[in-house]
Amino acid sequence: MINPQEITRHVCWNIPLLFKILVYVGGLGTIALAVWSVYQRVQIWKKGREEDRKDNLKERLIFAAKNVFFHTRILKDQYPGIMHLAIFWGFLVLLIGTILVAIEADVPFVHFYYGAFYLLVSLALDIAGLVLIIGICMALYRRLKEKPDRLQPEKAEDNLILYLLLAVAVTGFLTEAVRIAAQGFPKFELYSIVGFILAIPLNIVGINGTLAHRFFWFIHMVCSFAFIAYIGYSKLLHIVVTPASIVFRDRRSYGVVDPIPDMEEAESFGLTKIEELSWKQLMDLDACMRCGRCQEACPAHSTDKPLSPKNLIQDLKEHMNDRLAKGKDPEECTPYQKISDDVLWACTTCAACMEECPAYIEHIDKIVEMRRYLSLMEGRIPEELNQTFRNMENNYNPWGVGFANRADWAEGLDIPLLSENGSAEYLLWVGCAGAYDDRYKKVLKALVEILKAANIDFAILGTEEKCCGDWARRLGNEYLFWMMAVENVEVLNGYNVRKVITACPHGYHTLKNEYPQFGGNYQVIHHTQLIAQLLEEGKISLKKSLEGTFTYHDSCYLGRHNGIYDEPRKILQRLGLSLKEMEKNREKGFCCGAGGGRMWLEEKTGTRINYVRCDHALALNPQGIATACPFCLTMFDDGLKAKDKIEEIQLKDIAELVAEAIK
Ligand code: SF4
Ligand code: SF4
Repeated sequence: MINPQEITRHVCWNIPLLFKILVYVGGLGTIALAVWSVYQRVQIWKKGREEDRKDNLKERLIFAAKNVFFHTRILKDQYPGIMHLAIFWGFLVLLIGTILVAIEADVPFVHFYYGAFYLLVSLALDIAGLVLIIGICMALYRRLKEKPDRLQPEKAEDNLILYLLLAVAVTGFLTEAVRIAAQGFPKFELYSIVGFILAIPLNIVGINGTLAHRFFWFIHMVCSFAFIAYIGYSKLLHIVVTPASIVFRDRRSYGVVDPIPDMEEAESFGLTKIEELSWKQLMDLDACMRCGRCQEACPAHSTDKPLSPKNLIQDLKEHMNDRLAKGKDPEECTPYQKISDDVLWACTTCAACMEECPAYIEHIDKIVEMRRYLSLMEGRIPEELNQTFRNMENNYNPWGVGFANRADWAEGLDIPLLSENGSAEYLLWVGCAGAYDDRYKKVLKALVEILKAANIDFAILGTEEKCCGDWARRLGNEYLFWMMAVENVEVLNGYNVRKVITACPHGYHTLKNEYPQFGGNYQVIHHTQLIAQLLEEGKISLKKSLEGTFTYHDSCYLGRHNGIYDEPRKILQRLGLSLKEMEKNREKGFCCGAGGGRMWLEEKTGTRINYVRCDHALALNPQGIATACPFCLTMFDDGLKAKDKIEEIQLKDIAELVAEAIK
């Protein structure tokens, strides 16, 4: 029986001392270079604004570990997900194996690389190498053959990195194979399964000597060191930065933007200089590996607008390097030289990019920061916004209808004002659309019927309510938003409001996630959440079952921004409707085109986003389309009219359908 001590290999077998010295010098040198280059990037990020992202560190680390090791988000896109998983795990296992071998070779009195452990490690490393090669081949096939739009334009480094990694893996196997052949095919080396099999043909053609072994070993080392040295100077940087970006991700709802500190005293607004971004926002720029997932999901990009979230991040990165690494003068080098106004105004703040991004990069806050600059520093806003902002300033609603008429919709409905019934359990936040848009007034009336049927104790603010300010904030007019938010919070807190019902996802998002920045802390409930709860608890009963096939459109601010996907669907099913899903639904839902203030902007370039979304719905040939947002309803209404389908398709808010069923 073979002595376990003999089941091993001599690390650096057949390698002359001079080569070994070169390896140590080269290895330490390239590792030092990689560490130095990452350190340099950290110094650049530190030039950014302070921001605390250290809360709930344990949760952050667990979340990042799940994402990194199990590729939870990346695998949602199957082919590239499996491809990256293969490269990741292949690489990681080989890295661990290399470290073990280095410990065995270099740490005195440590000897563990023999016997069963040697066999196990040999097998694991060969399988890992094979998995790595499969992953690289999948990536090369995709880049060279499929050439998906989202990966364009490519850079030379994209393929170079893959070839370099392939060379490391292949020369590793060749070195192993020639060693096995040169050592006479020891039986236990069968555990080095790939090397063993490869050694057979090499042996037949005579590549089995010590010279060939040294040659492959040398190439293997050169490629490995080149790979390490390249980490800090290519998108390989994501190996280090992306996990960190996930750890320090924004844990709040997507698209929550921070207020401008000291609004009244501030002298500059928005992104005037790149270093005004926080350190995490700067880190984001290095975490991007140009995978293009964000671009593929972006409704603006897919309807031929000039915006690509991938290019936006890359342009900002290039600018960061110009300014903070090369030290170019901020007067002569601004982000707006690379990023045009049209790019920034094209965003609907739908968060599809953020939902897809494997590095958890935050696109929306950067876009809003730049819009703030255009809006408040430069006054460079699309012409039509002048009127919208004026309307909000003068009448506290974007339509510009007199503020004194805000409660007219409720006439004859016998709804108490909060000033009359200050102890009401709920405040019904009507929102501008509910108050002024004729179509959405009907939805509010339907909602009131439901609330009354369930004996909910509620009141409204009437003319004391102002626009929540969502549009102003997303459009970069933080000053206008700030005024409305502060005044609304003052009124709400004055009445000691605790629970708020709203039928507007934009109001929901703003009151729930952003008013706490101004001291307004409320339990905010969207009408679909409340209705689902009332049905569940039997507080409203359905008198009839509705018929027909409906599709439901996810509002971005309800779905992706706030995770409300199930309640609207549950309600539709309870109503007896047959629900058909559009191809892009739930987390992958496609924006209606109204968000981010786009509701108030002309859509002059490319295909209209709402037309595309209508096509998604019409492809199902439904009898009805259900929504839960006033602005989605408007966009569908316009789209269906343009497609001459408005008479054929029922377009309803969920509240209207429920009100019909309880009569
Ligand atoms: S938020 Fe939506 S529209 Fe804006 S860049 Fe991201 S995906 Fe595109
Ligand atoms: S921002 Fe995120 S999703 Fe977009 S290209 Fe970069 S890493 Fe990929």
